[in-house]
Amino acid sequence: MPILDGAQHSLTALWARAVAAWHEGVAAVVRSVQPTEENAWLADAQIKLYRQGSRYAMLLVPVGAFFVAEACEPWVSREMRYGWWGVLATVCLAFFAIERRMLAKPVETLSDLRHQARVFLALNIAFLLAWCSMGAFLWAPGEPVDNMLIVLVLACSLAGSTAIAAVHPASALCIFLMHAVFILAPPAFSAWPLDHTLAWLSGIFIVLMAGQAVALNASTTKMLTLEHERAGMLDGLLKAKAESDRDRERAASASRAKSQFLSNMNHELRTPMNAILGFSELMKSVPTGPEKNAEYASIIHDSGKNLLALIDGMLDLAKIEGGKLYLRESDLSISHLISEAVMEVEQTAQSKNLSLARNVPRGLPMVHGDERGLRQIVTNLISNAVKFTPPGGCVTAFARLEADGRICFGVEDTGIGIAPEDQTQVFERFGHGRHDVTTADKGTGLGLAIVKGFAEAHDGEVLLESEQGLGTRVTVTLPKERVVPTYARSAVA
Ligand code: ATP
Ligand code: MG
Repeated sequence: MPILDGAQHSLTALWARAVAAWHEGVAAVVRSVQPTEENAWLADAQIKLYRQGSRYAMLLVPVGAFFVAEACEPWVSREMRYGWWGVLATVCLAFFAIERRMLAKPVETLSDLRHQARVFLALNIAFLLAWCSMGAFLWAPGEPVDNMLIVLVLACSLAGSTAIAAVHPASALCIFLMHAVFILAPPAFSAWPLDHTLAWLSGIFIVLMAGQAVALNASTTKMLTLEHERAGMLDGLLKAKAESDRDRERAASASRAKSQFLSNMNHELRTPMNAILGFSELMKSVPTGPEKNAEYASIIHDSGKNLLALIDGMLDLAKIEGGKLYLRESDLSISHLISEAVMEVEQTAQSKNLSLARNVPRGLPMVHGDERGLRQIVTNLISNAVKFTPPGGCVTAFARLEADGRICFGVEDTGIGIAPEDQTQVFERFGHGRHDVTTADKGTGLGLAIVKGFAEAHDGEVLLESEQGLGTRVTVTLPKERVVPTYARSAVA
């Protein structure tokens, strides 16, 4: 029969919806006391909203309860009335005090939140037991006015609490169960027919209130979800804005660095170029003796050398910064590189009356790296030390094997030192310390940038320790993977 089939179909659909709603309801109750990482925010927001609505209720309830107890004076004994009121007032004050203490503690982890939700629920159950027990303490069998008064007060409290507690499913469920027991049980088990009518009416009222609570819970959950999403979006927007501000600042500083670089390059290229052009012009147009010729030729030669060093340095840096540096790796001796670099500057050091020393232990293991790059590091560091150490000072090139297997090498001097505020800048291209104005042999400012670039290309790091007026120590540390094990060398040998 199609009509019967249709009805059966609708009933099945209704049943399925009821079962789904039941499951959803149970899940919501569990979620509000046992939240997971994903829905912790919801449980937290539910508790906060519920607390907001019932903040001072625990102080007002004993006052209202006193009047209710007094209203039952004609039918209920003094002991019963004050006994009930005393228990209720004590529970309310304890609730208030415990909740205050709980509020003072920050909720930082999921287990904090779960603990808070459970304590909150336990407090609610204790309060509801004390409050709803008026249905037992103040109930005078066979006294219709008393009975109606009690049912009316409990029905009003159910309606009021539904409005506040619907947001927190577990608390709302307790409110319903407790009110239902104390509103329904006394009239239902009474011998008076009027009480039975009262029980029926109360039952219908409770069902209506339950529907109201479910609808209210759905709308507040939706509101909290929207608020959560809005906060998330706002957070995302703020992060994106901060990121874009950072990008803009980076682009602006890159553009500033580019302009600075071009102006530096302009200056650094022009100075030796002008010298070359000027002195060669002089040699060409003005007849000069062989002595002058040799002097001019030497200036032209030095300027050419400077230009070549500048171009080499720029090319190295461009390769390092563009990630295009190709390391021709082999096993090499740092000790050997240091000896050669020291020999190169020996004459200059002598002319400046500097003592030049080597502090390299015997049997220092070889390292696996790019010979040209590591030589450049040592040469740049020694030439800096010689350049920035006044006559009478001391320059020491050192190398050692660290206890953790890494290898360190570098140069220390007793020179003019670098001011703390310049110690980062000197590693930048064309980065000079402020004392350079007073240095006659002013370089291009690429040396340390190249040292850093080559060290990092070898997965190493550079440490600069310097104190103005006392000296400078620059240490390059290469990882232990770069150190050639001694047995490997003997095997090769
Ligand atoms: P370049 O090495 O390109 O010829 P430079 O020596 O001036 O020029 P870097 O080697 O990069 O450039 O050094 C940068 C700056 O760091 C120097 O100008 C100097 O101010 C400071 N500096 C470097 N080494 C020392 C040192 N040993 N003592 C004092 N100051 C130093
Ligand atoms: Mg230098």
